[in-house]
Amino acid sequence: MDRIINFSAGPSGIPLPVLEKAKDEFLSYKGLGYSIMEVSHRTKVFEEVLFNAIAKVKNLYGFSDDYAVLFLQGGASLQFAQIPMNLSRGNVCEYINTGNWTQKAIQEAEILGINYKVVASSQDTKFDRIPDIPELDSNADYTYICSNNTIYGTQYLEFPKTKSTLVVDSSSDLFSREIDVKNVGLFYGGIQKNGGPAGVTLVVIKKDLAQRVSDKIPNILRYTTQIKADSMSNTPNTFGIYMLDLMLDWVYENGGLKGVDEKNTQKSNLLYSAIDDMSDFYKGHAQKNSRSKMNVSFNIPKNQDLEKIFVDQALKENMLGLKGHRILGGIRASLYNAVSLKDVEILVDFMREFARKNG
Ligand SMILES: *Cc1c(COP(=O)(O)O)cnc(C)c1O
Repeated sequence: MDRIINFSAGPSGIPLPVLEKAKDEFLSYKGLGYSIMEVSHRTKVFEEVLFNAIAKVKNLYGFSDDYAVLFLQGGASLQFAQIPMNLSRGNVCEYINTGNWTQKAIQEAEILGINYKVVASSQDTKFDRIPDIPELDSNADYTYICSNNTIYGTQYLEFPKTKSTLVVDSSSDLFSREIDVKNVGLFYGGIQKNGGPAGVTLVVIKKDLAQRVSDKIPNILRYTTQIKADSMSNTPNTFGIYMLDLMLDWVYENGGLKGVDEKNTQKSNLLYSAIDDMSDFYKGHAQKNSRSKMNVSFNIPKNQDLEKIFVDQALKENMLGLKGHRILGGIRASLYNAVSLKDVEILVDFMREFARKNG
C-alpha cells in the first residue's frame, strides 16, 4: 500500500505500526467481538486502556503522583479559557507572547477580566524568536508559555526558570522530547499533532493547584471535577484515548522521549542545514537559537510565486502538507514523530532540485 509522506501540521501523520494495530483490533478488540468504540467507558475493558495511558504519560515525562493526568475535550483552545478560570485568584497571571497561540490565550484572559500581564513578547520581530525572559513575579498565580510555536517554527530549548508555577501549552511538541517538570503546574496539549487523532486534550495538572478553583466556576469546567471522575465526568473520547495509548507504546518502542528526541534532532538538523546551505534561495523564519525541531517554516524570498509551485510539485512527488500557515505564508514542514529521517532526506533532495531548476 502506498502511504504519502506526511508533513502536515495537525492533524498529522500517525506512525504506520500504530495505524496497523488499530486496524487489526478495529472490529474485535482483543478478540472480544466488539470495537473499543462500541463499549461503555464504565467497563473494565475501557478503564484498562485509560489507566494504562495515564501511567504511560506519567512515566514517560516523570510526573509524580502529585499530578493528575486528564483526557479532556474542547481542544487546546478550551484550555485558553479554562486555565485562567481555574488558576487565577487575583494575583497577576504572567504571559509570554510568542505568537498566534499565546495571543489567543491572552485574549481569553482579557475577556475573563482576570489580572494578567504580558511580560515578554517577540511580536516586534514577527515572532521569529523566543524572547528574553525578564525578572518574573514570585507572587504570580502562574506564568504561561507555549513550548513550541507551530506557525512560526520557534521552540523553547528549555523552559524558563519561573518563580511561580509554570503553565505550558505543548500541543505541537507533545511526546517529542524530555522536559524538566520541576516548576510545571499545568502541562497540556491537543494530541492531534503528535499523539494521535483529533479530539483529545491531554492536561497534566498538579492536584493541589487544581484546588484553587472558585465555586463560581461551572462543575464541568473545573479540573477538580474531572480529577475526581478520572476524566469521565462526561463520556470521554474513548477511541481517541485508545489511539493515544497505542501511540505511547510506539514512543516506548522507539526509545522513549530521549530516543524520539534524538531522531527529531537529526531530522531537524538535516532540514535546517539544507536551508542554510541554500540560503541564496530559501530563508528560514526562526532565528537560529529559537529553531523548532517540530515545525520548520521557510520562504522563497526572491519570488513568492515559487512557494505555491513548490507545494504543488511536492504533492505530485508524494509529499503532503507543506503549505505554510495562512498567517505566515510560505512553506512549513512539520517533522513530528511519525516523520522518518528518510522522509526528510527525500524532502531535502526535492528542495535541492527545486532550487537548482528555479534558482
Ligand atoms: C494547534 C494548536 C492549538 C489549538 O489546538 P486545538 O486542539 O485545535 O484547539 C493550540 N496551541 C498550539 C501550540 C497548537 O499548535
